[in-house]
Amino acid sequence: MINFLKEAKELFPYTQSMRRDFHIHPELGFKEIRTGGIVAKELETLGLEVTKGVGKTGVVGFLEGAKPGPTILLRFDMDALPIQEDTGAKYASTNPGVMHACGHDGHTAIGLTVAKLLHAHRNELAGSIKFCFQPSEEGFNGEEAGGAEMMIRDGVLDGPKVDKTLSLHLWNEKPLGWVNVARGPVMAGAEQFTIKLTGKGGHGAAPHITIDPVVAAAQIVIVLQTIAARNVAPLQAAVISVTTIHSGSAFNIIPQEAELTGTIRTFDLSVRKMVLERFDQIVRGIAETMQCKVEINVQRVTPVVLNDDSIAASVQETARRIFPETDLDTSSYLTMGAEDMGYMQEKVKGCYFFIGSNNKEKHLDYSHHHPKFDFDEQALIHGAALMSAAAADILKSIG
Ligand SMILES: [Zn+2]
Ligand SMILES: [Zn+2]
Repeated sequence: MINFLKEAKELFPYTQSMRRDFHIHPELGFKEIRTGGIVAKELETLGLEVTKGVGKTGVVGFLEGAKPGPTILLRFDMDALPIQEDTGAKYASTNPGVMHACGHDGHTAIGLTVAKLLHAHRNELAGSIKFCFQPSEEGFNGEEAGGAEMMIRDGVLDGPKVDKTLSLHLWNEKPLGWVNVARGPVMAGAEQFTIKLTGKGGHGAAPHITIDPVVAAAQIVIVLQTIAARNVAPLQAAVISVTTIHSGSAFNIIPQEAELTGTIRTFDLSVRKMVLERFDQIVRGIAETMQCKVEINVQRVTPVVLNDDSIAASVQETARRIFPETDLDTSSYLTMGAEDMGYMQEKVKGCYFFIGSNNKEKHLDYSHHHPKFDFDEQALIHGAALMSAAAADILKSIG
């Protein structure tokens, strides 16, 4: 039996130097030119078949095992965030206003380490592996879709067809040593909405001859909250947040229009359907009652990240074997955050797991997207070991 944990520990100096190099030179979504270039070079050095420009700046490395079998896609995101770093680390960002504040520098370094580990054991694999280095997980960044969707459009799941996916996130809400592999939903599905209300403007002192979109907007904000409070079952979850309201120009003018935007988050597909229906009814109903015209636009940001039961069970078994002393959490660790890995898992079944990465004693416990975010680099070993071992186990069990 291959000892992936031991081998990942031996490769730690490589993983750490890669992670720090990416951290010093962070790049925003769809601008991962330097990062993608290093990734491609490292994969080519191993002798993998490399395709660049998949989903704009994405890179795919293909590794064929010794025997035929299914194809697994391992996904690692590469993008940074528009945040000014404030960690004071010696490997802090040198790109002003841009920072790896979500840990994707670590994911990219883990991916390169996993490629090395599995390449070294390619003779023991029955099947192939696509190493998928994805751009722009954090948002669309001016494009019409995010990185996962762009890579799918460019055929990352085809030729050869991908049978299963594995993906991970370093998780600073939990300590180093904690690992979560859960069945079912793990990240919420997200939508963004815009509501445009049109009334009839006029003098603030003569409301009776106007149609006031501000009053309608206020009621919409309040009544939308009853979806979560009164339509969704108490043990199920949904978030409906109105996050911007824009209207008006002066204290004595009733404006003509009001615009609201916000987000909806759900896990369960039937809850999502119901929430979207109620959302539409409430907004249209109030607009009509208040005599306003209304335009509603609801756009899906990401589908729910839903783990397949049997793949999750296989990864749990691997985790138990390689981390006998680790605190393996198999509970449904749900977060209302969104992840565009949902697009890939919507098409191909997979498992998305979390690797605890905070260390309070070393003050490495700021949350993701914070200017002081940093994690305990020992977590990189856990991520690389579990990802490699889980992929090898799946290819072995089917092959
Ligand atoms: Zn993030
Ligand atoms: Zn992230």
